Amino acid sequence: MFDIETVRADFPVLNQQIYGRQLIYLDNAATSQKPLAVISKIKEVYSLYNSNIHRSTSKLAAICTEEYERARNTVREFINAKYTHEIVFTSGTTAGINMIAFSFGEKFVNKGDEIVVCESEHHSNIVPWQLMCNRKGAVLKVLPFDDSGELRLDLLDELLTERTRLLCVAQASNVLGTVNPLDKIVEKTHSKGVYVLVDGAQGIQHLKTDVRLADIDFYVFSGHKAYGPTGTGVLYGKESLLEQLPPWQGGGDMVKNVSFAKTTYAELPLKFEAGTSNYTGAIALAEALNYLSNKGLDDIHSYERDLTDYALKNIAQIPEITIYGTSKQKVGIASFLVGGAHHSDMGEILDKMGIAVRTGRLCADPAIHHYGITGVIRASWTFYNTKNEIDKLCEGIEKAKKMLN
Ligand code: PMP
Repeated sequence: MFDIETVRADFPVLNQQIYGRQLIYLDNAATSQKPLAVISKIKEVYSLYNSNIHRSTSKLAAICTEEYERARNTVREFINAKYTHEIVFTSGTTAGINMIAFSFGEKFVNKGDEIVVCESEHHSNIVPWQLMCNRKGAVLKVLPFDDSGELRLDLLDELLTERTRLLCVAQASNVLGTVNPLDKIVEKTHSKGVYVLVDGAQGIQHLKTDVRLADIDFYVFSGHKAYGPTGTGVLYGKESLLEQLPPWQGGGDMVKNVSFAKTTYAELPLKFEAGTSNYTGAIALAEALNYLSNKGLDDIHSYERDLTDYALKNIAQIPEITIYGTSKQKVGIASFLVGGAHHSDMGEILDKMGIAVRTGRLCADPAIHHYGITGVIRASWTFYNTKNEIDKLCEGIEKAKKMLN
């Protein structure tokens, strides 16, 4: 049973006062808080069996390696990948996208080829492709969104040409909250022989994710937004594709044999895990996914959907508010401006009330510029937030608005 008080007790950071007020943490799209299970797991690794994985011969190294590989299997199960070797541990979404931008670019992209990204993407799903296009002489094309925040899928047909190699799309937008219709996008894109990379940074923690069912070619996410540690992440790639890609970084653990005449690379997934990886983080990330599974993904998702309906309805009723992103399918994100108030002033006042939100351009300049504005206030909630906290947010916004007027 999903009991909110038990859930909140699992996240120690929530239970504190900020400027003398109970903390209301509504900045979950920037990073999520961590349950005790994850915090304890990190302590367990460092207290009991820390030792470098895949290398040392000691008992400790054997335990640590086993935990790390078990973590890989936990991720595989969580996203329903076919093979554990399709799961590469990274330092986050940004690292995963840069890796594919390099390796996929080397293998599949030639001068004059095209990559498609969406107007609503985070900078980490734009800039790596710009870098790659500059390097390879390829062309970056953009799929726009409409004012409600939905992608203009009607333009996809003409955007995908015989020169398109890859389409890059977020599972959910970090500005607009829109849940993008991956099934339609993948079907259309594959029908043109084009691969799809999905940025799951705002999706994995809120939506049931099945990379096989959705037939996604590459899927990336960050551990820290999914209740796991910072500096962790996952890249999933179909075996048939990852096999063909050259490594991104060279170093220890990613090679079979090294000589000055010829170096051979390790099998998947180690080919893409050069150097000592953040194995403690990966083990604790798996613990975060176990935490979600144990709580019950269906219960978590239905609690979040109910909270999102409540939040969006109530926030929209604040006089003079404009919400950016009003599509039907949204994760728990509201980006908004109120009256003439500047976003950073409002963010500061809310902070003084103990309400943590994010303000500014949210690392997604094109999405912000779409509306001709300079930034927004973003409140983002998850399954440990409550309707009462949303009420406090709405009251806080109204109070801040009066102060700023
Ligand atoms: N994509 C999206 C949609 C995001 O929201 C974020 C983080 N704000 C990223 C990518 C980048 O994630 P990270 O900084 O964890 O690599």
